[in-house]
Amino acid sequence: SRPGVPSRHVTARVAPLGSRLVLALVEDRTRERRVEAVRRDFVANVSHELKTPVGAIRLLAEAMHDASEDPEAVKRFADRMHIESDRLAQLVQQIIELSRLQADDPLETPAAVALDDVIAVAVDTSAIDAGSKRIEILTGGTPGLQVYGNEEQVTAAVSNLVANAVSYSESDSTVLVTTKVDEGSVEISVVDQGIGIPSDEIDRIFERFYRVDPARHRSTGGTGLGLSIVKHVAATHGGEVRVWSVEGQGSTFTLTLPQYFGATPREDTKQEDR
Ligand code: ADP
Repeated sequence: SRPGVPSRHVTARVAPLGSRLVLALVEDRTRERRVEAVRRDFVANVSHELKTPVGAIRLLAEAMHDASEDPEAVKRFADRMHIESDRLAQLVQQIIELSRLQADDPLETPAAVALDDVIAVAVDTSAIDAGSKRIEILTGGTPGLQVYGNEEQVTAAVSNLVANAVSYSESDSTVLVTTKVDEGSVEISVVDQGIGIPSDEIDRIFERFYRVDPARHRSTGGTGLGLSIVKHVAATHGGEVRVWSVEGQGSTFTLTLPQYFGATPREDTKQEDR
């Protein structure tokens, strides 16, 4: 090793490069190139994914125009248009969320986030979507927990997990959202009895735009961005997200975030606990 060398670039100019330095520089460049490739891929994917609903809406508008004599057909096309524009809105929203997350790295001004509130919002939002499917969403675990982070991001992550659990479950099943503390971390688990994830796909589901065989989902929804948002939120908070799943039986997603150890609200809960 060479003590006192201020930086790789300076060294590169003043002295012949040792093989380890060359390697480090090459690795740096490789990483840069990989990051750049990921960014280019993302832009290409975004344009592709946006074009699909936009194209569909355009075709439906034409079809509606041509079918103006047939009120039934017009209604059908209008309903389809509604679905496609919802999908487009969801895509745009999630793309914005993702790019904001990257800009936000590391977290600015983290604060105490009340998990009960976050879970209530996530469950309420998904309960509306569950609608005709009759999915019961139960919550349990340790009440009054707080995590240290960004409320908007934590809400986005938990909402995505609950929304997925509902989307990928059949009627008459239960989704459970539960929390517990483990060594200064808070674990939020979302357990479903849904279709599960094939073991050879499980490594890929956190990739942007990746969807397990979209044909197996009856609903048109889904962007393939939800879990990449969850993964980013976990990363910006110094936490992690894990998944356990059996195809045909269900999945459990566990998001681990740092617990908030601020003084104020926890004092009362502590006394009650003892
Ligand atoms: P999507 O918008 O398609 O739900 P996500 O990034 O949230 O995108 O998830 C990626 C893919 O992982 C989904 O398309 C689905 O195939 C699979 N997946 C995610 N959550 C679940 C779940 N709870 N049960 C079964 N499959 C899931």
